[in-house]
Formats: sequence, structure tokens, C-alpha cells
Amino acid sequence: MATLEISFLHNQLEDRKRRLQEAIALAPQNGGLAGLLREVDAALQRMAKGSFGICLECHDPVEQDRLLADPLVQYCLDHLTQPQRAELQRDLDLASQVQRNLLPQRDLRAGVWETSYHYAPVGPVSGDYCDLIPSDGQLFFTLGDVSGKGVAASMLMTQLHALFRSLTAMALPLGQIIKQANRVFCESALAGQYATLVCGQARPNGEVEIHNAGHVPAIVVGRGGVLRIESTGLPLGMFCEVEFSATRLQLEAGDTLFLYTDGLSEARQGDEEYGVDRVTRLVRQRAGQPPAELIAASLEDLRAFSEGSPRLDDLTLLAIRRLG
Ligand SMILES: [Zn+2]
Repeated sequence: MATLEISFLHNQLEDRKRRLQEAIALAPQNGGLAGLLREVDAALQRMAKGSFGICLECHDPVEQDRLLADPLVQYCLDHLTQPQRAELQRDLDLASQVQRNLLPQRDLRAGVWETSYHYAPVGPVSGDYCDLIPSDGQLFFTLGDVSGKGVAASMLMTQLHALFRSLTAMALPLGQIIKQANRVFCESALAGQYATLVCGQARPNGEVEIHNAGHVPAIVVGRGGVLRIESTGLPLGMFCEVEFSATRLQLEAGDTLFLYTDGLSEARQGDEEYGVDRVTRLVRQRAGQPPAELIAASLEDLRAFSEGSPRLDDLTLLAIRRLG
């Protein structure tokens, strides 16, 4: 572990030690506190001896993100005891449940807009983000992908969810919403953490305003043919002050907007990538079908393509169609 992190954790532990001592003075009958104090002292001693962050079993370094979250851990993930493993699994199950509860309503309809989505984390939790917020016949939609994987990515995903939920409730213009969300996200994310995202607002008259911030192209299909909405901005969280520009579209009855994460377009079979062209082709072939059927067809085509290859990334698909 680098000196900077060690000194950060050293200060953290000294601070916790002080707080524990104060708490023990106030509540000497709480035996758990004395046990914790002994653990903190032992961790400080390991720092002094230079053995801090080394797994007691295999003597390899313990994962840095786990140490930063809990400086008292003494075993790497491979060498947790059975009760520790069970506890970790319970935490993950709970995180997974919390994340699933954040998903929007299935087959949601808002005014003239009907929707369907598919959300499939590759592990217990996902860095993919999908939300639908109906309001007065309008529909606010977002689909994004946070950098990285696992619990850290899922925490950023939940943060984005909360940000967009609160900002849309304030009825700001969409450009303002994404700008504000970017600023808050940027100030709270660590360097190197960012999110690609497509978000938009669909109005009762078929008008759609859409922002693509560093995400794979969104696809619109209808009688007018196929249109790709490429990224016109940077991912959220890269720079705190950045402008986002909108694309405005008019969707007619039967026109569909299809959004996805790179779990679809970058799926691989050997050296071959699924690719945005194949996504576009499939969406064109299925023009006019209800959102749920388009999603099912897309999943079926992905399954046929990646037959036998394990899925390596989170996958999210979202289709929104204007009804007649
Ligand atoms: Zn180990």
C-alpha cells in the first residue's frame, strides 16, 4: 500500500482510537467497545511494524479498497473465514436487493409512451443505470454505465439515481438537470470514476430531447428509417464544469427509441465484437414492434451471437415507443 494511503489510514485509526476511548469512559459497561479498541491498537502496531495490509494466511497484500473501507481487515478475499464469507455474501445480497428496488416499474406507460427494459448485472450488483420517471404525460428516461464494476460502481450508480430523481422533481430544463448532476457527481466521485449516459425527455406531442454524454449511440427507428444519436459530450464526472448539448427529435406513432449499454455492443465471441452495426440492423428489422418484443428479439440475437461465451459485462436494454 502506498505511503499516502497508509498515512491516511493511520490518521483514521488514531481518530477512531480517541473516539473509542471517549466512548468507553462514558459507557464502561459496553464490553464490545474495549474489544474494538484492542483491534484498533493491533492495527496501529501492524503499521508501526510494517506488516499492515498483509494477509495473515498467504502474506500477499489485502485488497486496497477493502482496507480503505475497513482498516481492521486482516485477510485477503481468498482467505476469509467461513463466517466472514457468509457475512460478505449477506452484504452483497442486501446491496443487490437495494439496487433492484431502484429499478423503474416494468412495462411502464406514460401518456403516449410505452416502455420495456431488461436489466442484468453480471455479478450481484451492477454499474449500469436505468430509470424512467413519468410526469404529466411526459417521460424522463436515463440509461448509463458507471466506470468499473462491482460494489464501488453500484454505489455510484445509486448516487446518479438519487441525483436525477431529485433534479427532475425540481422541474428544471433537461440541460440544467444534466449539468447539475455532472457537477455534484464530479465533486463526489474519485478521480477516474465517471459515467457514460443517455438521458432525455419525451413529451406528449412526440417531441424528444436527448443528451448523449459519452455513451454508445442511441438508435431511433421508424417509418423515416434509422437514426443513430451519437455522443455530443463527455461522460459525467470527468470535468466539473462542462456544457452538454441536446439533440431534438420528433417521433411519430410507432417510432421507437432504443438504448443499451456496451454489455450489448461490446459483447464478444472470440475476436469478433457484436458491434453497434448489428444493434442497428436488429432494431431496423424489428421496427414497429412493441418495446417488449424488441427487447426479447435483441436478447435472443445476443444469445445466438455469444453462444458458449461467458457474459463479462453488465447488460441493460431500454426501448421506448410512441403509441398511435
Ligand atoms: Zn490471503
